[in-house]
Amino acid sequence: MSRIRSRGTVPERRVQKTLDRMLLAYVDHPKIYGNPDFLVGGTALFVDGCFWHCCPEHFRLPKANRGFWKRKFRRNRRRDLEVNERLAMERYRVVRIWEHETKDGLLCEKLEELLHEKIDV
Ligand SMILES: [Zn+2]
Repeated sequence: MSRIRSRGTVPERRVQKTLDRMLLAYVDHPKIYGNPDFLVGGTALFVDGCFWHCCPEHFRLPKANRGFWKRKFRRNRRRDLEVNERLAMERYRVVRIWEHETKDGLLCEKLEELLHEKIDV
């Protein structure tokens, strides 16, 4: 999993800055199952890379070694689903934001929308 989720990537830092600006309390890389990027209240927040997590808008299967990549991405997706289920069982709310959603200047609105329900103000 560390191959996929390296710490402090650019999209993660964008999210972190926005959380700071929103004055939200969060834990950076909490030690819970699936290694979410942030824990905001009871919400496990993942910043998913468009490539590794097969974003429907930006993902392109590499041309070389297609069989290898297909299997790899199938495993990644299965893993994401398994993590979602397990965290839900442990009563976390799971929110995933795409890397590309951190770029468009609407990140604050997006996070507000995604996190709103569970955050006690
Ligand atoms: Zn994308």
